[in-house]
Amino acid sequence: MAAAPIESAAQAKPLFAEVVQWAARVGMRFHGMPLQVRLRRSALNRQGHLGVTIHQRLWRGRKLVRNRIRAMEIVPGLEPLRFQGVVAHELGHVWLAVHRIWLPTTIEEGFCELLAWRFYRDLGTDEARRYAQEIEANPDPVYGGGFQYVRQVLPPSELERCLKERNVPLRLRYPRIQSAG
Ligand SMILES: [Zn+2]
Repeated sequence: MAAAPIESAAQAKPLFAEVVQWAARVGMRFHGMPLQVRLRRSALNRQGHLGVTIHQRLWRGRKLVRNRIRAMEIVPGLEPLRFQGVVAHELGHVWLAVHRIWLPTTIEEGFCELLAWRFYRDLGTDEARRYAQEIEANPDPVYGGGFQYVRQVLPPSELERCLKERNVPLRLRYPRIQSAG
């Protein structure tokens, strides 16, 4: 239980690689976007945030002329399984960016939380199950609320189809349609 917290790139790398392999198994493709992780030096500006994906987007008029992931940064000192869940979450942001799928914030965060949850469920250990339950019980309206919503729209088989087809259902892109119809 007392796994050493992640404080160095050497510790982070193999754990990161495991999550990338898991992502491939559930059908996530990244079109050759380089996937790397680094530990963050400064605190994140929003409290409670453990990771960030730095996404560079440059529009010229309506044309997206640059769409790059600069870095994925995770705060140091996390317990290994927590670290991996944060990586799974951040890979969700990378995947959405690579496939140019723009979602409202709550839906995007909920989608990324669903991936972290799925990672823990697939791992299936007692410790992983506890982390999955934490995601389910998160009272935060964006992370917890978003997760509950996206989980409804994307049960496991739908999530896999969405990842393989590189598309999300319209209900996720335009959540208000749901109440209209
Ligand atoms: Zn996020």
